[in-house]
Amino acid sequence: MNKEAAFIFEQSGCPSSRQLIDYLEGKLSPEQVHQVEAHLAGCVFCSEALDGFQQVEHKEQIPVIVKQIQGQLRRELEGHRSRRRRKKRYVWLSALIFIILIIILVAYFALYFVMKRERSDAARRQAPSAWVIPGDGARLRPGAGKA
Ligand SMILES: [Zn+2]
Repeated sequence: MNKEAAFIFEQSGCPSSRQLIDYLEGKLSPEQVHQVEAHLAGCVFCSEALDGFQQVEHKEQIPVIVKQIQGQLRRELEGHRSRRRRKKRYVWLSALIFIILIIILVAYFALYFVMKRERSDAARRQAPSAWVIPGDGARLRPGAGKA
């Protein structure tokens, strides 16, 4: 049987599987037969479902089969949805990790340049005092020690 037909089945507008079985078994009134046939002429799903029902030997099992197929389809649909949700979550997680990595990288380089500049500033501040040594120079002059 066409799975799609069974799923659309029993939605609004279409006769129930019970009604179609009754139609196949000749249990409907002439007026109901006319209604079902008028619907079948314009509904691909129902005519396909009817084809499927005709192939089922024990008609009393049809509602059970339809329910089983509907349940199966619903589970498949749910599985598909949760897979897509999981995929979406995975994309978000990757994006988050990527952003965090970028932040760490930027922070690292910012820190690196700040420390590099501080080191060179400190070197520049220390350099003149280390080279000039005014105190020692003054002491070397004769008579400066007495003052
Ligand atoms: Zn229909």
